[in-house]
Amino acid sequence: MNRRRRIYEGKAKVLYEGPEPGTLIQHFKDDATAFNNEKHALLEGKGVLNNRISEIIFTRLNEIGVPTHFLRRLNMREQLIREVEIIPLEVVVRNVAAGSLSKRLGLEEGMQLPRSIIEFYYKKDELGDPMVSEEHITAFGWAAPQEIDEMMQLALRINDFLVGLFLGIGIRLVDFKVEFGRVWENDQMRIILADEISPDSCRLWDSKTSDKMDKDRFRQDMGGLIEAYQEVARRLGVLNENRPAATGSGPVLVSSNSSDGKSE
Ligand code: UDP
Repeated sequence: MNRRRRIYEGKAKVLYEGPEPGTLIQHFKDDATAFNNEKHALLEGKGVLNNRISEIIFTRLNEIGVPTHFLRRLNMREQLIREVEIIPLEVVVRNVAAGSLSKRLGLEEGMQLPRSIIEFYYKKDELGDPMVSEEHITAFGWAAPQEIDEMMQLALRINDFLVGLFLGIGIRLVDFKVEFGRVWENDQMRIILADEISPDSCRLWDSKTSDKMDKDRFRQDMGGLIEAYQEVARRLGVLNENRPAATGSGPVLVSSNSSDGKSE
């Protein structure tokens, strides 16, 4: 049972009060939603997989100097993060035409874009997260021009890094969504990467077969989502293939932390 104070509950995650001021605990649920909550399901094991996949990606990004909210993984479903003031924007980076871009501009899915494209969406469920321009963002004060520049620079660095990371394991990074937050250090404000990066927030296609290895499997009723996420985790080196499953048929994860599984 969780007796910590719940700060916020989203569609796929819960944020709890952290052990120290300025920290939070990010808990990954098994819930999957799509089409602005019209479609919902529980996919057993998804939260565990996303926790590990996001952990390895954020750790690698920290290592190359991209500031993130990630501090450490606590157990199978939870990570300790820095508390940030979330900027109410979804920043999408696209390398290949798919999803809403294909629909909006009539582009064939799978077409390599002439260059990486960044888009902003206003985080507002009631409105279905509408796409917005820099003009809207600055006029309504969601972020300052300098913050937009910083988010765009970070988003492109993250994209360059992730394209290479996934290419190396036979996966094409089609597009992804990130969120940023503000932190204050000695009266200085900084923007850092927040939220998660997982197959819930990326389009990942197998390089050889173009099989979808992401949440589109749920959006498009294709089935096999957990198996696909497991395959992403396996290729990233966070799934242990040799060890038998500890509990039933759930995913088997490499444990690098003695507190693993405590809250499971
Ligand atoms: N995305 C996301 N959360 C959202 C909307 C989009 O993580 O609320 C991700 C999505 O998984 C994809 C990218 O952002 O990797 C671009 O999504 P798109 O705009 O094509 O929207 P969709 O077709 O998913 O509605």
